[in-house]
Amino acid sequence: MNILTMLWRNLWGGSRTLLFPARPKVTKGYRGLVRFDPALCTGCAICRFRCTARAIEFKAAKGEFTWSYDPGQCTFCGRCVEGCKTHALSQDSQCPPVYLTIGALKNSYTVARKPAPKPASAAPPAAAAPTSIPAQEARNEPA
Ligand code: SF4
Ligand code: SF4
Repeated sequence: MNILTMLWRNLWGGSRTLLFPARPKVTKGYRGLVRFDPALCTGCAICRFRCTARAIEFKAAKGEFTWSYDPGQCTFCGRCVEGCKTHALSQDSQCPPVYLTIGALKNSYTVARKPAPKPASAAPPAAAAPTSIPAQEARNEPA
């Protein structure tokens, strides 16, 4: 673009910024706040290890665990959502709300650990082992 055209557009094109607290429109595929569904979470903590920004905290305790998320530290990369095999995490498709104090959007869930799942089907009972081997068979002699 010609420098004079750009200058003209900047001078007469109107404001390019928005007055606080207005938010810009987001595009398709926008990655916003991370949402957590405690009902789907197994407490594997993979999201915690995938989050290099340390926005997710995970504390294990006896019979329960605590999952916390601080949007103030989140870079909205989506690595935690991709790594969650149970789909307990998702991301908003809208801009995060305006907040004025640090930690205002932080949220924390304490979830009871679910009992380990039982095997899908009970294994068939094992065939009864012979209690004694006939002497002839034990010696491998022909009848
Ligand atoms: S949210 Fe997903 S990745 Fe994170 S602890 Fe729960 S099941 Fe694991
Ligand atoms: S979106 Fe990225 S930075 Fe935000 S909590 Fe997930 S892994 Fe961490």
